[in-house]
Amino acid sequence: MTHQVHIIGGGLAGSEAAWQLANRGVKVRLSEMRGGGDTTPAHQGDGLAELVCSNSFRSDDDTANAVGLLHYEMRQCNSLVMKAAEVAQVPAGSALAVDRDVFSDNVEKCLTEHPNVEIVRERVDALPSEGTTIVATGPLTAASLAQSIGTATGADSLAFFDAIAPIVYRDSIDMDICWIQSRWNKRTEASNEEGDYINCPMTKEQYLAFWQGLIDGEKTEFKEWEADTPYFDGCMPIEVMAARGVETLRFGPMKPVGLDNPHDVTPEFPQGRWPYAVVQLRQDNKLGTLWNMVGFQTKLKHRAQVELFRTIPGLENAEFARLGGLHRNTFLNSPTLLDRQLRLKSAPHVRFAGQITGCEGYVESSAIGMLAGLMTATELAGRDWTPLPRTTALGALLSHITGDAEADSYQPMNVNFGLFPMPDDDSIKKKQRKAYYTERAKRDMAEWLRAARITEPA
Ligand SMILES: Cc1cc2nc3c(=O)[nH]c(=O)nc-3n(C[C@H](O)[C@H](O)[C@H](O)COP(=O)(O)OP(=O)(O)OC[C@H]3O[C@@H](n4cnc5c(N)ncnc54)[C@H](O)[C@@H]3O)c2cc1C
Repeated sequence: MTHQVHIIGGGLAGSEAAWQLANRGVKVRLSEMRGGGDTTPAHQGDGLAELVCSNSFRSDDDTANAVGLLHYEMRQCNSLVMKAAEVAQVPAGSALAVDRDVFSDNVEKCLTEHPNVEIVRERVDALPSEGTTIVATGPLTAASLAQSIGTATGADSLAFFDAIAPIVYRDSIDMDICWIQSRWNKRTEASNEEGDYINCPMTKEQYLAFWQGLIDGEKTEFKEWEADTPYFDGCMPIEVMAARGVETLRFGPMKPVGLDNPHDVTPEFPQGRWPYAVVQLRQDNKLGTLWNMVGFQTKLKHRAQVELFRTIPGLENAEFARLGGLHRNTFLNSPTLLDRQLRLKSAPHVRFAGQITGCEGYVESSAIGMLAGLMTATELAGRDWTPLPRTTALGALLSHITGDAEADSYQPMNVNFGLFPMPDDDSIKKKQRKAYYTERAKRDMAEWLRAARITEPA
């Protein structure tokens, strides 16, 4: 079969992209290296769309949960992953969990039986220099292709490990304790007027207890194939740094110098005293709703992170959009490399999809695969793409990846309400926001589906 689009990678994103294209009459070649003599360190079999770890697509609640809302929006676009999940569903309360074999078999059957899809079990070793292409090779992209992508995008643009610092919702930080200031009030052209960091002050006792908590906290182990993770500069786990000595953090990410605490003013220090140690948070998205804990990438278990980080003054009631982690993970610096339609700016015949774009999770990867398929189909039909409203879960995630995230600190991201624009109306209370976001998203999604002519397959 002569193909119009070459999709590389038959995981969640590649399978979803293939389905969307094929249903719009586009002939697709889907290259998957498993089943052709290759595999990844995490996959167990050769099936398309294999779930490599948990069998859950997380919450299915589309009235109060961002990932549940993403499910809803994907269903509106006739998502293959959502259809197959329904067939394979197993009981899991409000979560959408599946029998992973039934799920993968169903995805594979739908694509194998589709007249517009040719599945080829082959490893692709280089980015095609021409022809419409979607690269969906995931967090464990084969080394040869990763090298080719690295060459095309620049050495600093493709990461092989994530080093995720926790991200906190701005409105859960107690500003009666914290304050905004850049160290020594330093500013750049991009600086906010007040300063660029939220500072959480610590006394000596608080710091020592916190340091001990880092040392004692329960950590996750690296998987066998991740064990040689290199701790390169700037992404050493905070607990590894702490283990070097009790003062190391005070001379590193928790350095208090140049930070005048306005909540601790004395006649001698009318601007405010420097605390003993400080935890700094930096803005993580253009909306200013999410802030990351600078230098706090960690392998502490999630529960241990929540417990320990809520002992930080000002973060007692912190809500986390994402907790920290460190894994092997191949991903692009998408905010700088990709345009708003997931195309590589330097080679627009290539789109990227799935986790390699820096989204995180089964659902998000599938969603971005779905969008890559829809965008490519629209382009091949000679039509303009109708941008997705940022008020939808799909639009919020896509905007984050393709330009709204801070490129310097770009790390994989799950969908969450912190990516959504805040309500225009100040009277909407925090408790009512989830309902507001989901209702607004559904309304805007319906309009977009009409405008973008995303219809059921023929
Ligand atoms: C160990 C691990 C555990 C994870 N656990 C979870 C979890 O529990 N829940 C969750 O939501 N997310 C999890 N994730 C994150 C992520 O959601 C999944 O990795 C998800 O499968 C990503 O979808 P994808 O389509 O982008 O990549 P994948 O599903 O990995 O698909 C990529 C496909 O490309 C193929 N491929 C790679 N290179 C080539 C090449 N050169 N030529 C041809 N084919 C190639 C691979 O064989 C693979 O089939 C996990 C990730 C990892 C690494």
